[in-house]
Amino acid sequence: MEEEVLLKMPRCSFCKKNYEFPLGLTLVLNDGNILYFCSSKCRKNQLKLKRDNKKVNWIRKDSTIEQEAAESKDSKK
Ligand SMILES: [Zn+2]
Repeated sequence: MEEEVLLKMPRCSFCKKNYEFPLGLTLVLNDGNILYFCSSKCRKNQLKLKRDNKKVNWIRKDSTIEQEAAESKDSKK
């Protein structure tokens, strides 16, 4: 059951966001590890810029936007 969910909704290895499977990219490394990226932006940050995903502030912005969207839905009721 859990594997099915993971296949449909991979979680970005960089920003930890879940995304729909047709989107984003999946990268299989030579050592057998699989990295999922929701966008080329995340891939570049992880692989080229070697950024620490805890220190990248646009990830926090993304989660803030989601929170605000959820809150505005609640307030419309
Ligand atoms: Zn991402």
